[in-house]
Amino acid sequence: MKNKNVELSVVIPCYNEAENVPVLYKQLIGALKGIDFEIVYVDDGSRDDTLDELHKLSKKDERVRIVSLSRNFGKEIATTAGITQARGEAVIMVDADGQFPPELIPKFVEKWRAGAQIVTGVRLSNEKEGFIKRYGSKLFYKIIRSMAHIEITPRATDFRLIDKDVREEFLRFSERGRITRGLLDWVGFRNDFIEFRAKPRMAGEATYSVKKLIKLATDSFVSLSLAPLYFSGYAGLIITPFAFLLGLFVFIEQVLLGDPWDLNFTGTAMLGILLLFFVGILLVSQGLIALYISHIHTETQNRPLYIVNRKRSARL
Ligand code: UDP
Ligand code: MG
Repeated sequence: MKNKNVELSVVIPCYNEAENVPVLYKQLIGALKGIDFEIVYVDDGSRDDTLDELHKLSKKDERVRIVSLSRNFGKEIATTAGITQARGEAVIMVDADGQFPPELIPKFVEKWRAGAQIVTGVRLSNEKEGFIKRYGSKLFYKIIRSMAHIEITPRATDFRLIDKDVREEFLRFSERGRITRGLLDWVGFRNDFIEFRAKPRMAGEATYSVKKLIKLATDSFVSLSLAPLYFSGYAGLIITPFAFLLGLFVFIEQVLLGDPWDLNFTGTAMLGILLLFFVGILLVSQGLIALYISHIHTETQNRPLYIVNRKRSARL
């Protein structure tokens, strides 16, 4: 069985999912009939019996492989660990809590066989989501779509299938603050979509609290867009000329011409204008620093310069 190549690897990151593991396993086995597959479970430093449950499965079924991380590294890293181990011609990522319906996996495989190199599960809107999660994610996508330079599909989930070629490119990424979804959007390739309605989590509670989601959102911003860095620079570029013109006007009207329009600018007002001018200069300088930081940021991400789609190239 060692190093055997399979058609499909199912990668499942698990953090405290002891109750869900056996249930999802059964559903998977049922759904994957007729597909040559392996399941790569990643235990992300669970504190419950998840790892024991996984070993129970791997004793019974040699298609079950386990990556046990030494501590909790978070879903994004755990998923990467699973993708690294996967040996399939295609790799699909599934959450351990049953929110991504396993019975849809054959549809993903179908699209892949038909030529798609990435198949993305897109969530239909979920009425049960809390107010903050629902509107927060809407706002998030609105902002990031306008700022990032790549195509980002709203409601795209981590329920994704990727081709072996995409996997290989994905593994070249070395950045740490990573969002698997974002990176997969970045690599390009032929993308296809499958819409689905997310089910409620089977057992346990989602570990993504609002606080963690905010962290995830800011991480995505920082890794996908540099626009926030430039914000103060732009503010400075607007404020500085405005304050300069205002100051010039006051100087000419009050000091040179002796206030012909009786505007009676007070000293405080003039001081205010002067301060505004200097604040503007400071913001512009911050913007300049941002330019350098953004350069460093891009360099340290160390992304591949470009990605070749081997399937669609010729004689390489
Ligand atoms: N997960 C993980 N490490 C973590 C948190 C979550 O591997 O630190 C896994 C979890 O077991 C599940 C998936 O990531 O399979 C999604 O997590 P969850 O359901 O808690 O979040 P949701 O995305 O549904 O809000
Ligand atoms: Mg979940």
